[in-house]
Amino acid sequence: MANHVLAGIMGLCVADALGVPVEFMDRETLKRNPVTGMRSYGTYHQPAGTWSDDTSMTLCLVESLTKGLDYHDIMKGFLKWLDEAAYTSHGQVFDVGNTTRQALRRFSRGIPSLECGGTTERDNGNGSLMRILPIVFYLRSVYGTDFCEIDEALEIIHNVSALTHAHKRSQIACGIYVSVASMLIDATDLGISVETGIHKAIEYYRNHPGFSDELHHYERLTRKDFDKLDETEIRSSGYVVDTLEAAIWCLLKTRSFKDCVLTAVNLGEDTDTVAAVAGGLAGLYYGYESIPNDWLSVIAKRDYVESLCNQLHASFRGR
Ligand SMILES: [Mg+2]
Repeated sequence: MANHVLAGIMGLCVADALGVPVEFMDRETLKRNPVTGMRSYGTYHQPAGTWSDDTSMTLCLVESLTKGLDYHDIMKGFLKWLDEAAYTSHGQVFDVGNTTRQALRRFSRGIPSLECGGTTERDNGNGSLMRILPIVFYLRSVYGTDFCEIDEALEIIHNVSALTHAHKRSQIACGIYVSVASMLIDATDLGISVETGIHKAIEYYRNHPGFSDELHHYERLTRKDFDKLDETEIRSSGYVVDTLEAAIWCLLKTRSFKDCVLTAVNLGEDTDTVAAVAGGLAGLYYGYESIPNDWLSVIAKRDYVESLCNQLHASFRGR
């Protein structure tokens, strides 16, 4: 069995690290001096290969899922990251979103895990989308490859999002992303897999009142010519809809892991998260071997990150 956990998570981690030094930089500036590989310092003054909250929170989920699905345990991991800098590159938390911080403060005050996440329209940053990927491996191990038609499986995706981001729009983004990610595993045709993944998720939401009201925000993703949109029509902000669109657009526009994540970083603004979200998908489709070795070799705590991936991969065989 190929290790898809390693491919997806390392794809996300490497892309996050590529984006960290240029986070918040605008597109025009990056056009003049595009990112072509791992840079040092920049926005957060970190050495090359430093990954951020996107990877840290993803690793919390990876580690927790090795023991099964336990929302309280996932939240305990998130809090350990925020308060004790566990799961970090260099023992420092330098990047945390407001909605995530508020949810974790509620959790530390004793609020139940599934009631901590932000529920207002303003709580639709990309903070749950950036860390949702590991749930695809869990769902495939429990429900098989067709989990997108199973209510219980979708509810799990929504709950994992809701730990920090409980608004329906964020939950739908996670649902679409996980559906696409699952289709990309063992896929042959990139375009067909992405389209099918989007379609399956949208079908589900269309038939579920409460979600269907939010669906118009994702209308562009359902267009046949979505990948033909000009770069000027793609926004790479921290808004969850923008991030999901940008990540999928980068994947469809390019033909290698390297080109996909560099395209994502060079869109500017929320560089690390747009790249991380794209990189998870690209890692799954192109495989671990497609990730440039000179990028992997500088990843902070690479052995630790990869061993967590391997543990999750191994845990599925034991069930
Ligand atoms: Mg980040």
